[in-house]
Amino acid sequence: MKEIKVIAFDADDTLWVNEPLFQQVEHKFCDMLEDFLPHHSLSKELFTVEIQNLKHYGYGVKGYILSMIEAAIKISGRTLNIDAVERILELGKDMINAPVELIDGVEDVLKALQGKYRLVMATKGDLLDQERKLIKSGLADYFHHTEIVSEKNETEYTKLVKHLDIPPHQFLMIGNSLKSDVLPVLNIGGHAFHVPFHTTWEHEKVHHEIVHPKFRELSTITDVLQYTL
Ligand SMILES: [Mg+2]
Repeated sequence: MKEIKVIAFDADDTLWVNEPLFQQVEHKFCDMLEDFLPHHSLSKELFTVEIQNLKHYGYGVKGYILSMIEAAIKISGRTLNIDAVERILELGKDMINAPVELIDGVEDVLKALQGKYRLVMATKGDLLDQERKLIKSGLADYFHHTEIVSEKNETEYTKLVKHLDIPPHQFLMIGNSLKSDVLPVLNIGGHAFHVPFHTTWEHEKVHHEIVHPKFRELSTITDVLQYTL
C-alpha cells in the first residue's frame, strides 16, 4: 500500500446514491404501462432497450429517458399518447433535479485522505449531469482532478494514469462496481478496493469471485482508512 500516490473514487453509488433513483423511476415507468404487461416483463423490455442503446447514448439519465420512450412505444404497440411521453420526460427531469445524497462516511474519508494523497473522482455518464452532481455534492474541493468518461475500461484507465503522470501501481481505485472500478484497474497493474452498495445495476454485475494481491473487498467506505492512513 505504501506505493500508492493517487486514490481515485467512483462517484455513483460510491460517493453518492444513484441506482435507487433509477429503480424508483423504473417502478413508475412500470406503473404507467401495467395495462400492457406485468411489471417484471416491462422491466425486462426496458433493460433490453437500454443495453442496446448504450452504444448510441452512453450511460446516464438522458440516454435512460430516450430508452424509456422507445421501450414504451414498443410495449404499447405504437399506441403511446403524448401525455405518456410527457410523463416520461418529467420523470427524467425529476432525476436530473434530484438532490445529491452522500453515502455515509464519504466526507470524513475524503477529509482524512486529503493532503496525504492526490484524490481523483473518476466516473462515467453524462458530462453535464455528473458535473452538476459533483457541485451539488459539495465534494468538488477535495479532488485534485475529476475524470468523466463514457466507459471505464483498461484503455481509459491507462490514459488516466498517464495523465496523472504515475505508473499504474501507484494508483488505487475505489468503487462499487467490480466490472468498471475493479477488474480493468487490476488488469493494468493498479490497486482496487471494492465497496459494494446495497443494490447493483444488472449491467455492472460480475458473477465470479476476485482473488488478487492488489484487491481488497471492504464493507463500507470508512474501511478505506484502515489501509491508507
Ligand atoms: Mg458506481
